[in-house]
Amino acid sequence: MSEITPYQIAIEQLERAARIAEIDPQAIEILKHPQRVIRVSIPVRMDNGSIKVFTGYRSQHNNALGPYKGGVRYHPNVTMDEVIALSMWMTWKVSLAGLPLGGGKGGVAVNPKELSKGELERLTRGYVRAIAPFIGPDVDVPAPDVGTDAQVMAWFLDEYEKVVRATRKGVVTSKPVELGGSLGRIYSTGYGVAVITREAVKEFLEEKSPEELTVAIQGYGNVGSYTAIFLHEMGFKIVAVSDSKGGIYSKDGLDPKKVLEHKKKTRSVVGYKEAKTITNKELLELDIDILIPAALENVITSENMKNIKAKLIVEGANGPTTPEAEEYLFKEKKSLVVPDFLANAGGVIVSFFEQVQNWTWTQWSEDEVKRRLEAQMITAFKKVVDEWNRLDKKVVLRDAAMSIAVRRVADAMKLRGWY
Ligand code: NAD
Repeated sequence: MSEITPYQIAIEQLERAARIAEIDPQAIEILKHPQRVIRVSIPVRMDNGSIKVFTGYRSQHNNALGPYKGGVRYHPNVTMDEVIALSMWMTWKVSLAGLPLGGGKGGVAVNPKELSKGELERLTRGYVRAIAPFIGPDVDVPAPDVGTDAQVMAWFLDEYEKVVRATRKGVVTSKPVELGGSLGRIYSTGYGVAVITREAVKEFLEEKSPEELTVAIQGYGNVGSYTAIFLHEMGFKIVAVSDSKGGIYSKDGLDPKKVLEHKKKTRSVVGYKEAKTITNKELLELDIDILIPAALENVITSENMKNIKAKLIVEGANGPTTPEAEEYLFKEKKSLVVPDFLANAGGVIVSFFEQVQNWTWTQWSEDEVKRRLEAQMITAFKKVVDEWNRLDKKVVLRDAAMSIAVRRVADAMKLRGWY
C-alpha cells in the first residue's frame, strides 16, 4: 500500500476547513493547485573537477494577499510533491498571521552535509540564477529552511543582485544583520511560541498563574531553547527539556540559560548537574501542565496519546501531533493543542519585518521588533479564539485557525475576481 503524500494531506486539510468554514467550492478548487511550480536543473562543478546536476524546485502556491514567501530546503528527500504541500501550508501560515503575503516554498534534492563549502556556494548561486526570473522583493521572497542558513541567504542575495544588476536586499530574509537582516530574527520563533503559550494560559487555564504551571519542552535547538528562556522570564517553571540524546528533569525547575551553556559545552542537555536524566518518551508523558514539542514531526501519536497528561500542548515544531491524537486529546482528555502554524509563526512574522525594513532602508531596534512581533502574535491568537467560540468550541483549535486562514485568502481572490 502506498503512503499518503504531504500534498494529499494538505488537500484533505483544505477540504476539511472548507466544510467547517463553508467556503465557496470554486475558491477551494483554485486553492488545491499551486499557481506555478518551477523545476530547474542545476549543474555544479564539484571540487574534484566533475559536473554534478542537482534538481531544484520553487512552488508558488497563492499570491492573492501579496508576494509569495517561504523557505528553501536542502535535503536529499526533497520532491516536487513535498515542496507544493509546504507552499500551501505557507499560504495558511502567513494568512493567519495577518501578513500581506502569499505562500511559497523551494527546495533542492541534495544532502548539504556531503558538500564542501565551495560546492554549497556554487549550488546556491546556480539555483538562484535558475529561478531569478520568477522571484524578487515584490514577487517571491525565499528564506532558510531545513539545511539552509544565513550564509546561504547571503550568497543568495549576492547572486540575485548580480543577475538583476541592482541592490535588492529584500529578495531573501533571515540574512546576516550586516546585509540587511533584522535584529531579533534569531529568537523570533521561540519568543512567539512563549507569547502564544502565555496567552493560551490566560485563555484556557485562567485560574492559574505562570508560577503555578509546569512546562516540558522537547528539543533544545533554536526554537526549544529560546522558548524555554522566554517562558522562564515570564515566570513559568520549566521542569524538563530534551534533545536527540535524551532529556533532563527537575521538579524545582531548570534555569534555561544555564542549561543552554551546558549544551554548548557538551553538545547535549543530558548531564546537566542539577537534574535527573529522563528519556524523550518519559518527557512527553510527564505529569505537567504544558507540553511544547519543539523538535520533530509525529511525536504525539496514537501510540502515546493515552499517556499524555498536559492540558495544553503548544506546537513549536511543525507537525508534532497526528490528527488522530489531536482529536483524542480534545475529545477524551479535554486537552487543547495550539497548532504549529499559529504557535511558530514568529519566524515568518519577523521575516516580513525584515522585508519592510529593506523596502524602507531602515533598521528597527530589537525592542521595536519584539513589541511588533508580540502584538501580531496576540492578534492572530485572539482571532483563532473568537472563531473557535463562534464554532461553539466543538472543533479542535487547528480547525478554527484553518478556517480563518483559508477564508482570508478566498476573500482576497473573490475581490480580485478570480472566481
Ligand atoms: P534545531 O535543529 O535548531 O533544533 C532541533 C532540536 O531537536 C535539537 O535540540 C535536536 O537535538 C532535537 N532533536 C532531534 N531529534 C530529537 C528527538 N528524537 N527527540 C528529542 N529531540 C530531538 O531546529 P529548530 O530550528 O529549533 O526547529 C525545530 C522545529 O521547529 C522543526 O519542526 C522546525 O521545522 C520548526 N520551526 C522552526 C522555525 C525556526 O525559525 N527555526 C520556525 C518554524 C518552525
